[in-house]
Amino acid sequence: EDIEGERPVAQLVGPPVPWPRPHASHKGSYGDVAVVGGAPGMAGAAVLAARAALHHGAGRVFVGFLDPSAPAFDASQPDLMVRPLDTLDFRDMALACGCGGGDAVAAVLPRALRARALVLDADALNAIAADAQLQAQLEARGRRGSPTVLTPHPLEAARLLGSTTACVQGDRLVAARDLAQRFGSVVVLKGSGSVIAAPDGRTWINPTGNARLAIAGTGDVLAGMIAARLAAGEEAATAATAAVYLHGLAADRWPAGRPLTASALASA
Ligand code: AMP
Ligand code: MG
Repeated sequence: EDIEGERPVAQLVGPPVPWPRPHASHKGSYGDVAVVGGAPGMAGAAVLAARAALHHGAGRVFVGFLDPSAPAFDASQPDLMVRPLDTLDFRDMALACGCGGGDAVAAVLPRALRARALVLDADALNAIAADAQLQAQLEARGRRGSPTVLTPHPLEAARLLGSTTACVQGDRLVAARDLAQRFGSVVVLKGSGSVIAAPDGRTWINPTGNARLAIAGTGDVLAGMIAARLAAGEEAATAATAAVYLHGLAADRWPAGRPLTASALASA
């Protein structure tokens, strides 16, 4: 089945990137991901995004928690490098920003918007919806052509559009395209049949995924997967479509009768 019309899925969606790995490659060949999120009570959201990036093939994964009392490292995933937020330099990284971010993420956004590649999710999108200056900075980033992916669910999309969830859901294609054009970013409007829209007008409807994904944390996993692909240098629309497709496919292939969890999805 084609999801773009002309290009077969196999061309559009590869395995975790990049694969096969050139023999003489090293961790720097696969790029650095940073995850910023995890405000008090939501540290797990940042951990899930970071673990997903790791399992999706990123060379190195850093985590900057917004909760100052978050753990210094992830004992069950010690591959992740937890760093104080102000020591992380995003300019050479693919940053996933906002997963469990709470209100505290707003202060990091001016710096986040200068990342080499950027996934904005959850509270990062809410903070941008509430701040005209951040909106202008995101629009400027789009004009510069810096790889940027926004991953709103319908309520987050409605806030960005100054609209309602019902209106967004009433025409998901139009909502995703409007946001993509306004911010010069690739937009993933999540939910059953996720819509991916690029600023040049290309639009896809994802055929994979099911209601097993309707649990806390699966959106964070998706943000980490997209960031891993951007870190490896993939183009934003390809990274978003491929990650959304594989995220849904992992849920479709999950054994019947076993509940899916977001942490299991990250390693699947
Ligand atoms: P979030 O809303 O940020 O928690 O993200 C939820 C993730 O699960 C998104 O990737 C959604 O597209 C996906 N998802 C949630 N419910 C469904 C569903 N009923 N069918 C397919 N995907 C879903
Ligand atoms: Mg979410």
